[in-house]
Amino acid sequence: MHPYLSVVIPVYNEEAGLDILFSRLLPVLDGLGRSFEVICVNDGSADNSQAILEKYCQTRPDVIRALSFSRNCGQHTAIMAGFEAMRGELAITMDADLQNPPEDIPKLIELVDQGHDVVGGFRSNRDDPAYRRAISKLSNIFREYTTQIHMRDHGCMLRAYRRDIIEQIIKAGDSSPFITAFSQYLAQNPAEVQVGHEARAAGESNYNLYKLIRYNFDLITGFSVVPLQLFTIFGMAMSFFSGLLVVYMVMRRLIIGPEVDGVFTLFAILFFLISVLMTGLGLIGEYVGRIYKEVRSHPRFIATEFKPELQDKANES
Ligand code: UDP
Ligand code: MG
Repeated sequence: MHPYLSVVIPVYNEEAGLDILFSRLLPVLDGLGRSFEVICVNDGSADNSQAILEKYCQTRPDVIRALSFSRNCGQHTAIMAGFEAMRGELAITMDADLQNPPEDIPKLIELVDQGHDVVGGFRSNRDDPAYRRAISKLSNIFREYTTQIHMRDHGCMLRAYRRDIIEQIIKAGDSSPFITAFSQYLAQNPAEVQVGHEARAAGESNYNLYKLIRYNFDLITGFSVVPLQLFTIFGMAMSFFSGLLVVYMVMRRLIIGPEVDGVFTLFAILFFLISVLMTGLGLIGEYVGRIYKEVRSHPRFIATEFKPELQDKANES
């Protein structure tokens, strides 16, 4: 029998928080009065997360499942693996660190019951460092203006997706790895609901500055070529102004004579333009890199599912 609900949770080095997670999540799910499964995807954790997940699989083998990657592939890839393995009619994603309260899950389901195919949470009173909130704000504003995707908070992972949407996401595969924004793009009848936000229950954020930059590149290059267009427009404007400068310099040379002063100003301008050029090259590289990943078509992940029954047999023998 397929469950109604599949809760998909990416887990990366969350050993300190998993007990609290299950102690808060399971009562909520048990209280829904609907069948469910919880799929935890261990994204190559280096700590004890896998052993803890296996323990929970053994205590509730009917509802808890654990998939694992042998290396760290990233939060969205972990969620994709959960999507591919899920059996439910409805998927709910959430973080393992309890930053979004599982007690808000019924709010999402209520909206799905009203006919919405994607229900996104947006965070109120977000309890994160100021720089994280600032980056999110910028990233949301950028998406809002450069793509056709409109939503309040693409960083909030407490969200619900109907099965037909999940199937589209899986079909798109690598080409749209940014699940929250992509699902909003696919949705025919999306809804948004305010959800709570708390500081991490335990452990530390897995996002350093590098991962955050990569995450935002995925968003930007995944949905829009506006950066490339802006770059071209900037390049055209620059060509125009430097053309004027050349004409001016030639005239000056003919009328007043050669000039030596001001050579460092020209250097400064040149260095600036070279750096702009390098940025552009990097930008094109981002897009080419995405095309390359697509063409190469290596599997994005290999997920192994923990089977409690097999484990029991191994222990007996
Ligand atoms: N996560 C993951 N792989 C990663 C980084 C994070 O599966 O490489 C998971 C993590 O365990 C958590 C969720 O993604 O369940 C969100 O990560 P985190 O709380 O570190 O991010 P933040 O809340 O700081 O954005
Ligand atoms: Mg978090």
